[in-house]
Amino acid sequence: MIRLKSFLQDQFRDGEGEGATLVDPTTEEPVATTSTKGLDLAGAFAHARTVGGPRLRAMSFAERGALLEAMSKALYEVRDSLLEASTLNAGTTRSDGKFDIDGATGTLAYYANLGKQLGDRTYLVEGEGEQLTRSARFWGHHIKVPREGVAVHVNAFNFPAWGFAEKAAVALLAGVPVITKPATATALTTFRCFEALAQAGLLEGGVLQLVCGGAGDLLSHLGPQDVLAFTGSGETGAYFRRLDAVVERSVRLNIEADSLNAAVLGPDVEVGDDTWAMFVRDAAKEITQKTGQKCTATRRILVPRSKVEAVVAALSDELARYEVGDPRKEGVRVGPLASKQQLDAVREGIAALVEAGCRVAWRGSAPEGKGYFVPITLLVHDVPGEAAVVHEREVFGPVSTVLPYDSLDEAVELVRRGEGGLVASVYSDDRDVLGTLLRGLASWSGRILAGSRKVADQAIAPGMVLPSCVHGGPGRAGGGEELGGLRGLDFYFQRTAVQGDRALLDRALSLR
Ligand code: NAP
Repeated sequence: MIRLKSFLQDQFRDGEGEGATLVDPTTEEPVATTSTKGLDLAGAFAHARTVGGPRLRAMSFAERGALLEAMSKALYEVRDSLLEASTLNAGTTRSDGKFDIDGATGTLAYYANLGKQLGDRTYLVEGEGEQLTRSARFWGHHIKVPREGVAVHVNAFNFPAWGFAEKAAVALLAGVPVITKPATATALTTFRCFEALAQAGLLEGGVLQLVCGGAGDLLSHLGPQDVLAFTGSGETGAYFRRLDAVVERSVRLNIEADSLNAAVLGPDVEVGDDTWAMFVRDAAKEITQKTGQKCTATRRILVPRSKVEAVVAALSDELARYEVGDPRKEGVRVGPLASKQQLDAVREGIAALVEAGCRVAWRGSAPEGKGYFVPITLLVHDVPGEAAVVHEREVFGPVSTVLPYDSLDEAVELVRRGEGGLVASVYSDDRDVLGTLLRGLASWSGRILAGSRKVADQAIAPGMVLPSCVHGGPGRAGGGEELGGLRGLDFYFQRTAVQGDRALLDRALSLR
């Protein structure tokens, strides 16, 4: 049995008692335990504030970037052991494990490169500034300086490597030390990441700490210079919004929650053409990748009513190629769900959708007995306007519902019933159709992927989050925003307006 530890004040530290047990979702065998009971989290905050923060703020962007580059390399060097941990504790196939782990190293490398480009500076100045009065001397600038607190990151179970790394990369580049807390159920992979980073000597000096297990009193130590970035369920997000630190001390909060992401097939797309093939391939991938446990997975598939049966037939053929089973077995493309809790939630979710009038259009097979396996399930609801549950309930597994529409306006209206999504994908080669969909969906979506013939074999699938584009969405998706290149750093900066003698300010801020 593996014993996981937290990494606090530059050392691995064990909590009291046995704590939580982590299992292998394929066999249901226990694989690790972890406890955070009795750990000095107040001390971790103090260490980050007094040691990690000053250390990072003294570093230039280029130096912070070099730290990220070294982190990326250190994780890449243990890629195989991270993939093993991911399969053991999260039930991922090798391909799904890579999605998480390569996403982590790739995002760190991307921000390392941005650091290199920003060079010797330690903070940013926005643009040229502007004249504030009739005098050309009296000038205003906006500067962006790192907050002098701690970035607390609380992550979901489905991305134990990427979730930790994508947030840490941005905070560290901005100059803010991190305390990260992965979800307990799948924390083994994050723990292995920390072992590798410690081995490479990259964790000294309070820049990065790990709370490996229950949060304990973590959130009670948040102060006015701290930020809290959360990824997880809408329910936990709502609880975070009500935290005293957020309400009374204005702790900055970013929430990445769940989402009923939609794909829309344009009426101009003909069965069998390139755009059609792209749509079918993307939809199948977004239903099955990571066993549907992706916040960006496609949950609703909107198609012209006349094409419902053709879509179901094409998708069923495609989905039949995805074998569900032991992720270590050759040929298996879909592993188990990550935990018993998830299995119960997915089964309940499918039952609720069927209760609401969805019919099962296609269902695959899955191993029975041990393991948290669930068959891939494609549903259809013929009157989607009347099926509130389809637009409200995120079933976090390999499940999606095909919904017919009779007009583009109706398609837009149905997508908006999800009340804010992380990503929408639209497939069309007609610029009017595309224009209507983009304009109709943009304010309700964090990101839109437009699939069409000329990018059919070049585009990424809609569920892939790139560090260069923003991630997050309005409303139900949490209202947050992460990544997006340099945009992501703003969450960790204080933007301060500075007014005064232009020449003097320019010298003081080293602008000339
Ligand atoms: P969750 O149950 O909300 O847990 C998320 C994290 O919050 C875990 O680390 C959990 O710790 C912690 N947590 C829960 N209650 C807490 C409390 N009272 N105080 C402090 N920490 C607390 O979500 P999940 O089941 O792990 O993740 C699945 C959900 O995340 C899905 O709905 C999915 O859509 C969403 N998600 C969203 C994104 C996005 O980017 N928008 C990405 C991935 C997932 P413990 O594990 O120790 O309880």
